[in-house]
Amino acid sequence: MDHMLTSRLRALRDVAETVAADVIAPAAEAVDREAAWPERSMRALAEAGLLGLHVPRRLGGEGQGLVGLVAITETIGNACSSSALCFAMHCVGTAVIASKATLEQQERYLEPIAAGAHVTSLSLSESGVGSHVYLSETTLRREGGNFLVDGVKQFVTSGGHADSYVVSTMSSAVEAEPGEFSCLIVDAGTPGLSWLAPWQGLGMRGNSSRAMKLDGARVPYENLLGDEGDQVWYVFDVVVPYFLMAMSATYLSIARTALSLAMQHLRDRRFSHSGETLADIPILQHELAGMWVAVEKTRALVYEAARLGDAGDVDALPAILMSKADVAETATRVTNDAMTLCGGMAYRENAHLARLLRDARASHVMAPTTHMLKQWAARSLLGQPLL
Ligand SMILES: Cc1cc2nc3c(=O)[nH]c(=O)nc-3n(C[C@H](O)[C@H](O)[C@H](O)COP(=O)(O)OP(=O)(O)OC[C@H]3O[C@@H](n4cnc5c(N)ncnc54)[C@H](O)[C@@H]3O)c2cc1C
Repeated sequence: MDHMLTSRLRALRDVAETVAADVIAPAAEAVDREAAWPERSMRALAEAGLLGLHVPRRLGGEGQGLVGLVAITETIGNACSSSALCFAMHCVGTAVIASKATLEQQERYLEPIAAGAHVTSLSLSESGVGSHVYLSETTLRREGGNFLVDGVKQFVTSGGHADSYVVSTMSSAVEAEPGEFSCLIVDAGTPGLSWLAPWQGLGMRGNSSRAMKLDGARVPYENLLGDEGDQVWYVFDVVVPYFLMAMSATYLSIARTALSLAMQHLRDRRFSHSGETLADIPILQHELAGMWVAVEKTRALVYEAARLGDAGDVDALPAILMSKADVAETATRVTNDAMTLCGGMAYRENAHLARLLRDARASHVMAPTTHMLKQWAARSLLGQPLL
């Protein structure tokens, strides 16, 4: 997909490749085994100047859009899925902050992010509303110059490790309509913020995607993003495109890595009785070709959706929605098929392919889930309201 990358983006991708090879890949197995947040990966990405990917250039960032997000996240994900997810959620949080940042928010958040001194994340999910993440039951009350926030957020990636969290809440306005919500930046260390049990996932284990408790958490009024109650814009204008492209790139990298491990194994595995390798067997060649074309078709859709999104094309929405749905199907299929092709070697506890198989399973359930994306894509194609 190099033809879609500007020379600046190719240079950034080269930087990401170096960090991925030197720092991120060597730590990936331990990050998964220990369910450890990938601190060294995130520090290396910060030192390489990649945390400011979506900060405007005038604030010291790279001012990149969706194609940039896909290219860099995919590169990181080829080395470690969990690192890609933490980086991706940081990027989505940054894009949300950058979309309507006040001057103070630019100084307090975007400039430090561009300087590699601040990691953020996104905190939308709640157990009550489940995958309907455009809703929130977390409450907001005004008291003096602060908001008091009460609620429990689930699955907050980089929970307890990021410097700030973009948190959705109900609007505090008495006349608020159901579904109207507000959005705040909650700093790590805010009084009233605590973390519940550590994350122990089936896959995507190194993300610290844990629950955040907000118990009268005192958040300064200046940390409100946009105007109170107006944040429905941000779900469909910013979160949906950035989140879906970020997740598409993360899970695409899993599918590509599984495919390349399968190819390597087919070439390497040789039978002593015949001297033949698995790569010489026609039925396995046939299966490999099917896996390859699934990955290539999905990758083409993901990059094209990102390009359409950056161009503000009217046809971008169904492509963006279906990218994540399609990636989820490809990643779960290809990791599963690769496990079969690679036989018993791949089935060892914590073997690389086994890890990818577990990681890929999160793709369908990360909201918007595959079920919802297909409904929304169809509604968008039919000219119906998404919700
Ligand atoms: C590794 C990981 C990291 C995450 N990181 C973050 C994060 O950083 N920030 C964050 O805010 N959230 C995060 N999440 C949460 C995630 O985005 C979802 O909100 C969460 O997984 C939804 O789970 P649930 O069990 O409540 O789903 P449920 O809502 O109970 O859904 C269960 C199933 O029912 C289907 N379903 C439910 N309602 C409908 C419907 N109306 N129509 C059709 N199908 C429906 C869903 O598609 C799904 O298959 C993360 C999740 C994971 C697994």
